[in-house]
Amino acid sequence: MWSIIRPATQAPHWHSRVGSNAGAARPILDPSSCSSPMNGHCLCGAVSFTSPDARDIGACHCGYCRRWGGGPMLAVHCGPGVEFTGAQNIAVYASSPWAERAFCKSCGTHLYYKLLATGEYFVPAGAFDSNDFELASQIYVDKKPGYYSFANQTPMLTEQQVVEQFAAQGGEGGA
Ligand SMILES: [Zn+2]
Ligand SMILES: [Zn+2]
Repeated sequence: MWSIIRPATQAPHWHSRVGSNAGAARPILDPSSCSSPMNGHCLCGAVSFTSPDARDIGACHCGYCRRWGGGPMLAVHCGPGVEFTGAQNIAVYASSPWAERAFCKSCGTHLYYKLLATGEYFVPAGAFDSNDFELASQIYVDKKPGYYSFANQTPMLTEQQVVEQFAAQGGEGGA
């Protein structure tokens, strides 16, 4: 499905098409549902946002994401078209030369991981009003600690595989 609605630019870090089954046998949403925006907000309500329609969640098990959030990051691949209100309440942390992470200054809710090169947003699934998502990929699976494991059957990429894929795309991955 991503091959149909996703722009040609691929995300260096988060990647929704990490397996050979990407796009296979998934129903194509009708155009009206594809274009409906999705809304979300932080815990205290100081920040709200609207994202283009997206369905795929990528899970990142890397140490940066787990330190940031206390557990693996479950982020919706939203693309660059996410709009925020309450921007004065958003704190931005430059977590690497190629990405930044943002959170609400008031309540601490994580708002996004953003790739600077592409402007793509990866927004935590739990911040959305909707739960209409699907866990589509998992990355940095070799960095996952042994104390949890997802039962979801998804494409799985190790750090090395992620790095190789990003290099092939001319980008960088990680924090
Ligand atoms: Zn807040
Ligand atoms: Zn991560």
